[in-house]
Amino acid sequence: MVSSVPMTTSHWIKQHTFSSPDISTDVLIVGGGFAGLSTAYWISETRPDLKITLVDRGACGFGASGRNAGFLTKGSASFYQSLCVKWGAERALEILRFAEESISLLQQNILKASPEIKVERTTCQTLFQTDAAHGAWKDERFDPEKFGFGWKKQDHLPPSLRSKFFGALEGANEYKINPVQLMGSLKKLLQARKVQVLENVSVYEITPEGINTEINRIRAKQVVLALNGYFSEYHSAFEKLILPYRAQMVAVETDEELDCPALYYDPPERVYWRKTSSKVFLVGGKRLLDVRGEHSNFDKITPVIQQGLEAYLRDKLRLKYKVINRWSGIMGFTDHELPYICEVAAPVPTFMLGGFSGHGIGLGFKSGLEVAELVAGKKPKSFFSQFREPEIRL
Ligand SMILES: Cc1cc2nc3c(=O)[nH]c(=O)nc-3n(C[C@H](O)[C@H](O)[C@H](O)COP(=O)(O)OP(=O)(O)OC[C@H]3O[C@@H](n4cnc5c(N)ncnc54)[C@H](O)[C@@H]3O)c2cc1C
Repeated sequence: MVSSVPMTTSHWIKQHTFSSPDISTDVLIVGGGFAGLSTAYWISETRPDLKITLVDRGACGFGASGRNAGFLTKGSASFYQSLCVKWGAERALEILRFAEESISLLQQNILKASPEIKVERTTCQTLFQTDAAHGAWKDERFDPEKFGFGWKKQDHLPPSLRSKFFGALEGANEYKINPVQLMGSLKKLLQARKVQVLENVSVYEITPEGINTEINRIRAKQVVLALNGYFSEYHSAFEKLILPYRAQMVAVETDEELDCPALYYDPPERVYWRKTSSKVFLVGGKRLLDVRGEHSNFDKITPVIQQGLEAYLRDKLRLKYKVINRWSGIMGFTDHELPYICEVAAPVPTFMLGGFSGHGIGLGFKSGLEVAELVAGKKPKSFFSQFREPEIRL
């Protein structure tokens, strides 16, 4: 794997003006994506007496949090089917409740008070192209109705999808969001609360004397690592736990009138897509076309995936379009598809949250609250620790 940002500090740089004075804080949050920003929000909400510092080696929201498809969703029918198979229906339902609460907390605490964030209520549809594809996908351990998914028959799909799909499992109360606006508003809110936000600062080590960055040392009483797809790059202790996978997207413009107001997943095709305006479509996925190549923390687009995404637009959605943007981002996957939120053995008391496995926007806000409660000593374990809690030593 290739690291894109230099770590450690040379003898020469240390003596140069790049370095800045050491600082002290109560809680240091490393990683300014949605997970880190949400954690900072909840700590500042529940413990306004604490000094909080958040650092990111780039700019806040420049990781996956600002590169995703903007599905603010509890998750697709496929996600819950897979969780039922792994954990049983009862526990999968608990995860659904967690996701619902996470979105509702984000609504009440951030979205209602932030008119600058473009957000739109919609539904989420898991599409099937044929009856046989739906049949092959079904699993007796997953009852869609229990999870709030209703079957939308072909003749109830919008006319533009009727000829292409046999039907869909639809979940209500989902949202389309502009993720960069969300990250920007969270950052502003934190700064208004006097959270110290330091960008272009890379943390590379936690020592008993403090947390070393390439420009200074930060003395902190507690540390939160929110590195998602970059955990394994930070320390080998995370290598087997959180695997980095690249996810690519393409944005296209079309003049065709397509009535597609929802968030769409097409499980057999391994794609997800949505419209952002009447003329602009985003489509992402097709990672399985190059599983080995996409197991990477290096941000780049590749022909095989981009061609796969375009083939879907052209052959399945039968669109005529013009490509207006292509990009990628790095996700962090765990083998159980759920994040790790737990304590980590380190020279300074440290917690981690990450491994959102492609669902961080739906799960992230309440995950930040879970960490805030661990930091404040309000509870010994997070919700997710019942699924798996690794022992990690840095
Ligand atoms: C193309 C794509 C589409 C997606 N679509 C969706 C979607 O529609 N809905 C959904 O729910 N999820 C989606 N996801 C997943 C979602 O974006 C992530 O789960 C979520 O953003 C994770 O947030 P995070 O804060 O944990 O990670 P990130 O946003 O990646 O933040 C981690 C941060 O850590 C910083 N960092 C790393 N190392 C260091 C260091 N040593 N020192 C300091 N800072 C460091 C990075 O710069 C980065 O900003 C998608 C992801 C991608 C890539």
